[in-house]
Amino acid sequence: MAINIGIYNKIINELISANVALIAVSKTKPNEDIEALYQLGQRAFGENYVQELVDKQSVLPKDIEWHFIGHLQSNKVKYIAPFVYLIHGVDSLKLLTEINKQAQKAGRVISCLLQMHIATEETKFGMDASELEAALAASVHLPFVSIKGLMGMASFSDDQEQVRKEFKVLQHYFQNMQNNFGAPFTILSMGMSGDYQMAIEEGSTMVRIGSLLFGARNYNAN
Ligand SMILES: *Cc1c(COP(=O)(O)O)cnc(C)c1O
Repeated sequence: MAINIGIYNKIINELISANVALIAVSKTKPNEDIEALYQLGQRAFGENYVQELVDKQSVLPKDIEWHFIGHLQSNKVKYIAPFVYLIHGVDSLKLLTEINKQAQKAGRVISCLLQMHIATEETKFGMDASELEAALAASVHLPFVSIKGLMGMASFSDDQEQVRKEFKVLQHYFQNMQNNFGAPFTILSMGMSGDYQMAIEEGSTMVRIGSLLFGARNYNAN
């Protein structure tokens, strides 16, 4: 078991006073690590890979809230639609439309966040302002998805001021969305192990923390 209980308690205390939710990002980590955090009261876990999420969901406690935080391909939505709690990375209207279709088939409404492109890296996913507007307008006709807010990933950079600038851009989109589209958008998912404190300073309501809690990931294991 590799979870760090001291750091978990420290983060929980910081987040409670800021009224920010914690998603424990458990991708690549074994079920025992998830169970250890579950024993401490953690219920919200984040995963990036569909097959890994489906495997974990099938054996772990049913009251876990599973957050899909990775890049989701349209043809895989059907595997997570029956149980996923919140999809963070909705980066196209095509994907939102497919989630609506699979949610209807599963007989439920699926909560989603629209992912915005805020980083300097072209390789990162996300919408721009006009795509965001189009998705919000179209979502009126997609009754089986419920858009709760926005998600974004800052540049992978040591330049703190660059990262802060990107968080401000995302927060600005979030504020505009709340002002102009009337629906109760309540979630701004931003901040990871390396930048969550700054993200909270810039208005985050939900942070996604992996390596600080579970240790560094080894993608070559097994
Ligand atoms: C892996 C991942 C995280 C967690 O990253 P850490 O740096 O380990 O905290 C958060 N968000 C997304 C979208 C991720 O893919």
